[in-house]
Amino acid sequence: MLTIALSKGRILDDTLPLLAAAGIVPTENPDKSRKLIISTTQDDVRLLIVRATDVPTYVEHGAADLGVAGKDVLLEYGGQGLYEPLDLRIARCKLMTAGAVGAPEPKGRLRVATKFVNVAKRYYAEQGRQVDIIKLYGSMELAPLVGLADKIIDVVDTGNTLKANGLEAQELIAHISSRLIVNKASMKMQHGRLQALIDTLREAVESHHPH
Ligand code: AMP
Repeated sequence: MLTIALSKGRILDDTLPLLAAAGIVPTENPDKSRKLIISTTQDDVRLLIVRATDVPTYVEHGAADLGVAGKDVLLEYGGQGLYEPLDLRIARCKLMTAGAVGAPEPKGRLRVATKFVNVAKRYYAEQGRQVDIIKLYGSMELAPLVGLADKIIDVVDTGNTLKANGLEAQELIAHISSRLIVNKASMKMQHGRLQALIDTLREAVESHHPH
């Protein structure tokens, strides 16, 4: 059995056409179903529906052989325990700092609110900047508006969410897209089968999302 971990929403919607190119089609619509394990048209392939930030955990521990995770999630998780053989070129966006439009740089220590705590620590450490990181789980845009933080670090697509809240994107930390990740032991034990699937997905990426 091959088990593939995915999250609902953007990643699922953009991954299903790529899996279909490899002959893997869910037997029910994962967006509509409440089931967390979804069978596919291939008897020995199943999908696990998990939270986006949990995908690397399932794959690293071998509860799933494969997964699809945003590079933002992988940067925050720390990818040493996983293979990342393929950029799927889906769910593209940018990981950026953002602050209130026209706000002056604060005099003292910068306060940064984010759910990407590890990414933030690394980013500012590389710049030799002393910062206070404030962990949030969502609605980061609110933090600078109510004085909780000077800046946020978040993923930005169109920038509309920032704009609607009087914020502007500032520094680019990383270009983001979703990646195929593979459990290291699975890659050894089922090398032929996984390599064939990776090659088929690579061809599907080239035709669906050319450079
Ligand atoms: P935006 O288009 O910049 O207004 O993005 C809307 C919201 O969707 C942002 O606040 C992000 O949190 C989220 N978002 C946009 N693109 C992605 C992505 N590729 N992966 C995850 N979250 C995203």
